[in-house]
Amino acid sequence: MRRSLILFFIFICFNNLSASEHFKESRSTHFIVFYNNAPEGFIKSLLEKAEFYYESITEDLGFRRFNFWLWDNRAKIYIYDDANSYRLASSQPAWSGGAVMPNHKIIQSFPASKDFLDTILPHEMGHIIFREFVGFNNPGVTLWLDEGVASYQEKRRYSQADAFIRRLIDQDSFINLRKLSSYHSLASLDSGSIDIFYAQSYSIVDFLIKMFGREKFVLFCQNLRDYRNLDDALRLTYSLQGISQLEKAWIGYLKK
Ligand SMILES: [Zn+2]
Repeated sequence: MRRSLILFFIFICFNNLSASEHFKESRSTHFIVFYNNAPEGFIKSLLEKAEFYYESITEDLGFRRFNFWLWDNRAKIYIYDDANSYRLASSQPAWSGGAVMPNHKIIQSFPASKDFLDTILPHEMGHIIFREFVGFNNPGVTLWLDEGVASYQEKRRYSQADAFIRRLIDQDSFINLRKLSSYHSLASLDSGSIDIFYAQSYSIVDFLIKMFGREKFVLFCQNLRDYRNLDDALRLTYSLQGISQLEKAWIGYLKK
């Protein structure tokens, strides 16, 4: 997405968020939930799950945390009453069940959003935690890498991703990594291509962590943070010369 569009999007969201100051609030150590008529039981489960993911995602990625989400630095979760008010406030498309503004640590959703607590919440928190680590406006972070790390928090959902990709390769429907890296937005893709995009993005991150280990993945993210260039980070961490060698290694691993 172009910068002007992102700024416009944030402007719209903040306009809508500030217009909703009548929200009720519920707080935990690292989160504030804003809501109107969502069931109290849902808000309680939401805070419990969010606190659990706060620890587990950082551990899962091997990150050490320097920036604690305490007091005024807590993440904010807006729970709208229904899909309609969520979409009005977030300007998200009809299929969206949740949205995130990583640099403001804001997540938006609604109670009836399917699988929000088990999949969308850890996914959106994954975006925030990853971006805090590698930098919010880092040009080295491609969309597939950002979505791959976030989707890595939904492992159960992607348990069949590798088998799915092997079929894509056989059927010639695989999106090569150069093309995958050219996507800055998924707005123009149909739902089939979006599924392929997410499965492949997840699979690459899963491959890097399984094949080379968590410590190397942390080093990769540190190199990405310091050099702001994906090819440099791949070369310095894994001795892979750019995304073409990454693709070769990843496909070799999938075909074993
Ligand atoms: Zn995402």
